[in-house]
Amino acid sequence: MCNHNIRTRYAPSPTGYMHVGNLRTALYAYLIAKHEDGTFILRIEDTDQERYVEGAVDVIYNTMKMTSLIHDEGPDIGGPVGPYVQSERKPLYLEYAKKLVERGEAYYCFCSKERLDMLKENAEALKRPFKYDKHCLHLSKEEIEQKLAEGVPYVIRQNNPTEGTTTFDDVIYGTITVDNSELEDMVLLKSDGYPTYNFANVVDDYLMGITHVVRGSEYLSSSPKYNRLYQGFGWEVPIYVHCPPIMKDAHQKLSKRNGDASFEDLMAKGYLKDAIMNYIALLGWNPGTTQEIFSLEELIKVFDFKQINKAPAIFDPVKLRWMNGEYIRKLSLEEFHEMALPYYKEAIKNPEIDLIKVSNLLHTRTEVLREIPEQIDFFDVLPEYSIDLYVHKKMKTNAENSLVSLEKVLPLLESLEAWDLDTLHNSVLKLVEEMGVKNGVMLWPIRTALSGKAFTPGGAFELAEILGKEESLRRIRIGIEKLKNA
Ligand code: GLU
Repeated sequence: MCNHNIRTRYAPSPTGYMHVGNLRTALYAYLIAKHEDGTFILRIEDTDQERYVEGAVDVIYNTMKMTSLIHDEGPDIGGPVGPYVQSERKPLYLEYAKKLVERGEAYYCFCSKERLDMLKENAEALKRPFKYDKHCLHLSKEEIEQKLAEGVPYVIRQNNPTEGTTTFDDVIYGTITVDNSELEDMVLLKSDGYPTYNFANVVDDYLMGITHVVRGSEYLSSSPKYNRLYQGFGWEVPIYVHCPPIMKDAHQKLSKRNGDASFEDLMAKGYLKDAIMNYIALLGWNPGTTQEIFSLEELIKVFDFKQINKAPAIFDPVKLRWMNGEYIRKLSLEEFHEMALPYYKEAIKNPEIDLIKVSNLLHTRTEVLREIPEQIDFFDVLPEYSIDLYVHKKMKTNAENSLVSLEKVLPLLESLEAWDLDTLHNSVLKLVEEMGVKNGVMLWPIRTALSGKAFTPGGAFELAEILGKEESLRRIRIGIEKLKNA
């Protein structure tokens, strides 16, 4: 059954960077709407002028576009309930704050910074949380009018009861009841005329017809106050869907400081956007089956927000790596090649290296694109290496038998006319058979001499084919010299 009336919004503050948690909120809000054929809205929350970062709105647009979280209404495309940028809605908030004042649900507060600081200091001395003392609630109508006429700076505060309780429901966290004595008379409208998030989110969610409010659990503790605002206006409370925190481990939240926290960080490390989105979808939600790989279309089909967990989600880089590897393997060779090319160019300058052959090697062996340059840098320049690399227990190689192998194989390779995988493979293995040694005793030293590295994508023949005859022979001669001089 389709419900065309579902309206969700993603409401980022333009702070210059897309935290994984924000992106998950955007994704879930998108999925909740699209699962029911509803409407997904983008709203820019820029009323905190101090936090505003130049260019940050573009980061939001670009990320949404790249990740295919396409909004149906928003600042760039408009819609029936715009404007969709809060700073452009400024006059509205004063109007609605005044309505609350008329209803006795809010009041003007003219307290000076000095007086508020004193209250805060007193609370601190008593080790109590700061709560405004409702001083200005008791001003007479005349006093208020006089101060307004004199242009005394003011804020408008919510007038919360001090007795009784307030209850709200969240789809994920259940029914939560708090004592009204805990509710601060929060500021709704600041002295600069801008609303606080606390006020703007309620007014806008109502005016924009938002049915499901999806956001991080850090807003849970303020939600009773939001409910009182809805009730103060006589508006229906939306369905709340608060998402669990994303943790780095059992103790720390994932944050900008510990890396991997933003979409940009992950893209820069060479994760694929689709893999990132797939992984993020599973941070705090699961389909109730063992399926883990989902396209966005599949997520739209199966996403049921009632299955979001309330337990904190742990961001597991190992799992993300694995998932990224899965996405890379699903690419065609050509697609992979295209994506890998910028990374090849960082490490390989020699135009004679056939990069398609490099892609053949790397396509199934790469989990994170950023790691490509260090895997392939030896193609360009043979690194300085220690002859310890020739010693390998499992391959049963040491410096002595490695020298023997390289000295035997050199003239054979020199004599080859063709230089392709099959020729290399057949002729070298024939020599191995004649020598009566295990394959590894020949192949390990060749691979080591060709790469100067302990780990390479691909084995001796593949590396030799890519390096070409002349360069391969040169490197084997270097290996022989090194081993002789040891
Ligand atoms: N502007 C808020 C933020 O970026 C949005 C919270 C919400 O979705 O209501 O954290």
